[in-house]
Amino acid sequence: MYDIIVVGGGPSGCAASRRSAELGLSTLMVDGRIEIGSPLRDYEILSRSGLERMGVEIEKHWMDRSLREIRIFVGEANASIFLDDMEFYSVEMDKFEKHLAALSSEAGADIQIKTEAISPVLNSGSITGVRLRTGQTVRDEKCRAVIFAGGLDSTFMRNMPELVISRGERVARSFQYRVVGNFENRKSIDIYPGGDMRSLYAVIPKEDNIANIVALGLDDDFDPVQSISAFINNTLKISSWGSLQEVSAEINRTGYPEKLGMPGMLLAGDSTGINSGCWAMGVENAYVSGMIAAESLNQMLVSGTFNLITEYEKKIRELSMGTDKRGFMNMIAGLDSKTFRNRLESRSNFHFRGKGNFSDILGSIL
Ligand SMILES: Cc1cc2nc3c(=O)[nH]c(=O)nc-3n(C[C@H](O)[C@H](O)[C@H](O)COP(=O)(O)OP(=O)(O)OC[C@H]3O[C@@H](n4cnc5c(N)ncnc54)[C@H](O)[C@@H]3O)c2cc1C
Repeated sequence: MYDIIVVGGGPSGCAASRRSAELGLSTLMVDGRIEIGSPLRDYEILSRSGLERMGVEIEKHWMDRSLREIRIFVGEANASIFLDDMEFYSVEMDKFEKHLAALSSEAGADIQIKTEAISPVLNSGSITGVRLRTGQTVRDEKCRAVIFAGGLDSTFMRNMPELVISRGERVARSFQYRVVGNFENRKSIDIYPGGDMRSLYAVIPKEDNIANIVALGLDDDFDPVQSISAFINNTLKISSWGSLQEVSAEINRTGYPEKLGMPGMLLAGDSTGINSGCWAMGVENAYVSGMIAAESLNQMLVSGTFNLITEYEKKIRELSMGTDKRGFMNMIAGLDSKTFRNRLESRSNFHFRGKGNFSDILGSIL
């Protein structure tokens, strides 16, 4: 029997299992994927301050390059933001997630991949274990408590009507392509809000002629695949390009969880809705929430009461305040493209100093 079973081996699950094990709790982390970090997620952006918050030391094998400039383009207008005191890294996510899992393992957590959590095992309304499936084999693994870190959309959560009470629909459509073309050896993260301000494209450079193109859309009928091609052809105007691979595609329609926990179980990471509308700090928030979940559950196990769930919810909502209130998509969705263009024109080429995050930077131009 384990003290804690963590469902999900993404950033929040790795943080939860690492912290649980550090606290001396016997911990099992399961993930349904064939390996941690796979299928390939490729490049995401993390800040130096974010990695510091996560307690993760930089290692060269997953850190691709340091970026000091963000460019934002709307029509003919653009602004260059030079990050004097801040540093962002382009991080190779598959390797980074394996590194995060290795930190959990070093701390003493057991990890099982290719293992799907089907449902919690309940006894008189309390969780006493998790039903797991590895290949054709189904078994019940006993535990004292569960941290669910399964991301935005998981069947496990859909089987838990106690927690998934929709407060309005959450639609996140995103798509990421690794593209080869003439990217002129870019050294900046380039952001292109769509003309209607309901979509956004980002170009994250990799090697000289390779970039990750990310498309996000707020609307139901946003077609990421079609719009990424149109963006490359019409906005970037790269006449000849090839896609090396589809990196990630997520189309989610799920309800916000009304509660972030129940006796014996806490939600962590994307499953809490913490990063809704803004992924600029997605990994960082997910990781920090995983650590908080482990610490809160430990307190609950020590005190023998799950009354502290409300306190946990408060901490998580506070963590998400920055992203919820100032998320880029939320910020720009409230503006029309003309207003946004005018603001960019009046604020082009400015330096950004000081601590903060991506939303703080954008807040200074919006
Ligand atoms: C296209 C795109 C670009 C992004 N760019 C950035 C960026 O530049 N910077 C940034 O900080 N963030 C970015 N994000 C957001 C970031 O990736 C997420 O916020 C973060 O990965 C959330 O971590 P998580 O651990 O909560 O969930 P996830 O990373 O989704 O991990 C959940 C894990 O749980 C597993 N799982 C689910 N259900 C089960 C089950 N029943 N049994 C077993 N395993 C299960 C899944 O296999 C998965 O491995 C981006 C996201 C997308 C989609």
